[in-house]
Amino acid sequence: MARREPVITIDGPAGAGKSTAARLLAERLGYTLVPTGAMYRALALSVMRAGIPAREGPELRGHLAPRSIVVAAGHVFLDGDDVTEPIRSREVAQVTSDITTLASVRAKVTPLQRQLAATGRVVLEGRDTGTVVCPDAEVKFFLTASLGARARRRQAELAAAGTPVALDAITAELRARDTQDETRELAPLRRAPDAIELDTSDLTAEQVVERLLATIARHRGGVEPRVVAPPRRSAFYGGCRAVAAAVMRALFRLESSGRDNVPARGPVLLVANHSSVLDPVLIGSAVARQLSYLAKAELFRIPVFGALIRRVNARPIRREGADPGALRTAMRVLDEGGALLIFPEGTRGEEGVIRPAKAGAGMLAVLSGASVVPVYVRGSGRAWPRGRSLPRPAKVTVTFGKSLRFEVERGADRKQRYEVASREMMAAIARLQDGSTEGAGKRWSASYAVGSK
Ligand code: C5P
Repeated sequence: MARREPVITIDGPAGAGKSTAARLLAERLGYTLVPTGAMYRALALSVMRAGIPAREGPELRGHLAPRSIVVAAGHVFLDGDDVTEPIRSREVAQVTSDITTLASVRAKVTPLQRQLAATGRVVLEGRDTGTVVCPDAEVKFFLTASLGARARRRQAELAAAGTPVALDAITAELRARDTQDETRELAPLRRAPDAIELDTSDLTAEQVVERLLATIARHRGGVEPRVVAPPRRSAFYGGCRAVAAAVMRALFRLESSGRDNVPARGPVLLVANHSSVLDPVLIGSAVARQLSYLAKAELFRIPVFGALIRRVNARPIRREGADPGALRTAMRVLDEGGALLIFPEGTRGEEGVIRPAKAGAGMLAVLSGASVVPVYVRGSGRAWPRGRSLPRPAKVTVTFGKSLRFEVERGADRKQRYEVASREMMAAIARLQDGSTEGAGKRWSASYAVGSK
């Protein structure tokens, strides 16, 4: 049976340095990070907000069933809301410790974690990831540290977040959480027999990661440290691209400029205006790099066509209603170092009119931290506009702009940051429409000009 890509688990008590080590390790390996405690914290927050007591029963089960928890780029979304920051409070930590003893809570979260680990290339971090969630993980670590060292770390973290707390209080809380985690009946905190233990009391985060990487390198798990996967190239995609480029040149005199703005490797998000069904083919034909695309799930059910688009890197997403999986699918492509093309405006619009971006586009740009390359397609809305069954001759050009980057600023209002990123990427596309890389765009739709959604 084909082996999936490696899974690395990091378990241990609170304050042992797991989260930082797991994050740095995932970054160095180019793996996806799954902070499992954050998923439980998100559920605890939801239970607190709903005012439901943290005990087993129909009320709790009824509340849990419809909850959606999505982890992407180390961020956690509860029913679509980014709760990464609110879940870090001490109150949430306490309720989390209580609800994680309950069967219905674990039964909700464990399958989600297994699903995230299924394709491999993930670092799972928590209490039971090497024992219960993924007992067959390739490399397992168990991080420990003295109670004193852990309490001092937590105190420094809380102080940095603007909440100074006395060391004694933190020590007592940690001790209580240790007892709760170690003695609970379900998935208690314990070292898996095959986990490698590391005491981090006297190590910096960087030293911890170096040790983990060295252990992984020695391990026969087949994990190559410090290697972010090179872009995957498929001969099938290459063949399709060559044919498509020839057809696009013949029918639409396709020309392109600024192709060097698309980095040859590493995660890149291409964001383009959208006025024709031809746009993905035109952009894919114009750029040397093999792109991944997001497409309506229904298209994958069309015989032959569905199989074809899958082989040229299209990934299915739901178009109707909220689709938390879409963000995860997109993040996965970028986490793997791929180049993803998206149309932030959503559906096709009129030729030459740039519309506001959907909220998800800015969020993806910020959370992924990927280079964002704006792309302007001119003429495709004349060549094959919406509502016509056949294309007609028209000149088409594709322009790639200089890449942008949107960082997460600590403490900034995230939602606002996502909106600003969405606006900035559309503004960059509008500048390409003007033929400049500096000037302001002219043809904005009215709703966009006032910045509304
Ligand atoms: O690691 P973190 O402090 O975010 O975890 C919050 C709480 O979630 C812990 O106190 C622990 O009780 C629980 N947890 C768990 N199983 C995991 C991860 C965390 O029970 N895999």
